[in-house]
Amino acid sequence: MPEGPEIRLEADRIAKVLAGQRIEQAQCTLPALTRRVARLAGRRVDAVETRGKAMLIHLDHGHTLYSHNQLYGRWFVQKRGELPNTGRSLRLALHTAAGSALLYSASTIELLKTAELGTHPFLSRLGPDALSAELDWRTLAARLDTPTFRRRSLAALYLDQGFLAGIGNYLRSEILFFAGVPPDARPMDLDDRTRATLARVSLTVTRRAYEARGVTNPHQRVQALKAAGAKRGGYRFAVFAREGQACHDCGTTIVRTEANSRRLYWCPSCQRAR
Ligand SMILES: [Zn+2]
Repeated sequence: MPEGPEIRLEADRIAKVLAGQRIEQAQCTLPALTRRVARLAGRRVDAVETRGKAMLIHLDHGHTLYSHNQLYGRWFVQKRGELPNTGRSLRLALHTAAGSALLYSASTIELLKTAELGTHPFLSRLGPDALSAELDWRTLAARLDTPTFRRRSLAALYLDQGFLAGIGNYLRSEILFFAGVPPDARPMDLDDRTRATLARVSLTVTRRAYEARGVTNPHQRVQALKAAGAKRGGYRFAVFAREGQACHDCGTTIVRTEANSRRLYWCPSCQRAR
């Protein structure tokens, strides 16, 4: 499943054909929305926003198209009149003079009043967005120390969209590695300094993944690994999907485990309890 950085990159692509543009034709194949979406023709798109893994397309008449890809949904951006070569089923099509944004396979599509997004059952439960420019690490460090979150394992917290929106499975492993904390530790087990490090790393690693298109390793390490002949699969992550391979930092063998029903990878030497 795509995580916050991938959804934001998808939003950037969609914004190229939608943002500031007038919708010339709109189509939705979900029966409950077919007529309402068709009436969006003539509306202008003010902005394309993401909140965690949710996509929000804000329209100029106070309404917002909300979609969530869940496991299978995927956006395509095409020249007007061209369809992608895919066996998926089209759910939503928005055509402007600049091109077409097409959503395939997603089942979660809603047309909402923009003013009521805050009371939406899913959106209202999201924590702050890890990619939001307004979120600073001090706020996140304080959040880690609140009664709601301080007693839960980091492995569980870092999949909870109510704690921090946009984090998914690869970011969970990578953030905990770069912060040097074991996955079964709880925020209350960490000293103030380590909690601050974890908060800072949560934001920097997620932003790096967005800017580097899914790569979480720092630039210098990526360059060194590339120089040694590594392909994307070899330089992308520090620990995720690297079971049995040597940690780039210390040489210890990376371990795979299950945590909250999802695979998690970590370095037992770099991520010792403190
Ligand atoms: Zn290590």
